[in-house]
Amino acid sequence: MKFDIDNCTLCPRACHANRTKQAGICGGRDTIRCARAMLHYWEEPCISGSNGSGAIFFSGCALHCRFCQNAVISAEPYGKYLTPERLAEIMLNLQNQGAHNINLVTACHFVPWVIDALGIAKKSLHIPIVWNTGGYETVETLQALEGYVDIYLPDFKFFSPETAKHYANAENYPETAKKALSEMLRQTGKPVFDGMLLKKGCIVRHLVLPKHRHESIALLQYLAETYGTDQFLLSLMSQYTPMQQDEQFPELNRRITKMEYYSVLDKAQELGFDGYLQDSSSAKEEYTPDFHLQGL
Ligand code: SF4
Repeated sequence: MKFDIDNCTLCPRACHANRTKQAGICGGRDTIRCARAMLHYWEEPCISGSNGSGAIFFSGCALHCRFCQNAVISAEPYGKYLTPERLAEIMLNLQNQGAHNINLVTACHFVPWVIDALGIAKKSLHIPIVWNTGGYETVETLQALEGYVDIYLPDFKFFSPETAKHYANAENYPETAKKALSEMLRQTGKPVFDGMLLKKGCIVRHLVLPKHRHESIALLQYLAETYGTDQFLLSLMSQYTPMQQDEQFPELNRRITKMEYYSVLDKAQELGFDGYLQDSSSAKEEYTPDFHLQGL
């Protein structure tokens, strides 16, 4: 993979930061930074299983969604700097604690260093590697992960460029996420299970936003027409939680209604998607962990 640390184009923002001197839009400098490592029980059941997923939360994010559910680590300069060697140790510690997989959460802006860590850890790791991402990734960066990642867990957040611009100043999000998903599916193929646990494959997550059910329905139709419904698992999420009162975007100041969620859920079922279709009563804040540098 071509990576110029002094002219970074790792992610679709392509902000050309000289990361030896300053952080890019993502907040990333020239060293891995993480906020927490933990056994995580709130992912999809085929990821968390009974023992938990070995989640490592990376600090920073290139996307900066207005409604981010993890803003404390994605938008703030918060976290602990780690070498690839230390990150590899953390992965092995999680495996020793019984984690079913290593779940790398929003690591796109640290890909070269993460690949170094995976190269060290892979010799002793015997559990799948999960790439847990906002879906805003370049095909080139994803290709660099081929052979290291077993399971892709991307969001597909926005289907219209207008909405992507409105909430994340990323008009190119839909086109970028489409290409990224095609590359992820090329690498993994259809889901492969070992008992209840996913060993290989792709889970596409979509968080239904207030006042955006029609866009969610259009996304589901696109996914079904483009890929069919048996190439990946769909995780349709209802737990949108307003993290602050937003005067500029007042429509984001409430949770979604049952009508909004069930209209999207009905379409997912009508199209024949398989996966995780939450009941709207599961909209709770417990899905967002606290970040206090534990496990690092
Ligand atoms: S990874 Fe960060 S520094 Fe690199 S292009 Fe993206 S936002 Fe800029």
